Amino acid sequence: MTSPDTQVELARCSFCTKPETEVDKLVAGAGVYICDECVALASSIIESSSAGPAMPRVPMWSSLTDAEMLSHIPRVAAHIDQAEADLRSWVQELRRRGVTWAKIGESLGITRQSAWERFSGEE
Ligand SMILES: [Zn+2]
Repeated sequence: MTSPDTQVELARCSFCTKPETEVDKLVAGAGVYICDECVALASSIIESSSAGPAMPRVPMWSSLTDAEMLSHIPRVAAHIDQAEADLRSWVQELRRRGVTWAKIGESLGITRQSAWERFSGEE
């Protein structure tokens, strides 16, 4: 399910952390991914919980044991790398479109030089 416009080797659902190989469909957002199962779960939460928390969490912490949460946190940490890789692909697309390092840096609140150093892959 990899596409040519992403550098992520094995994308994972940002909600359940399942890899793309264990779900039917994985949809990419801005630095995040969601699988078909989590879309269905989130949809059912939205439909059924007008009195629930303002921002329900998937998976709900109350449904997880300490051991399950401990096994989950390395995958949560892996999302940092996944989001960074996705950010790189957004920048690569902007560069492919001819957008300057100055404009990319300005958008990110960093200098042109910092943008180039962070994303160009050149030294
Ligand atoms: Zn999921």
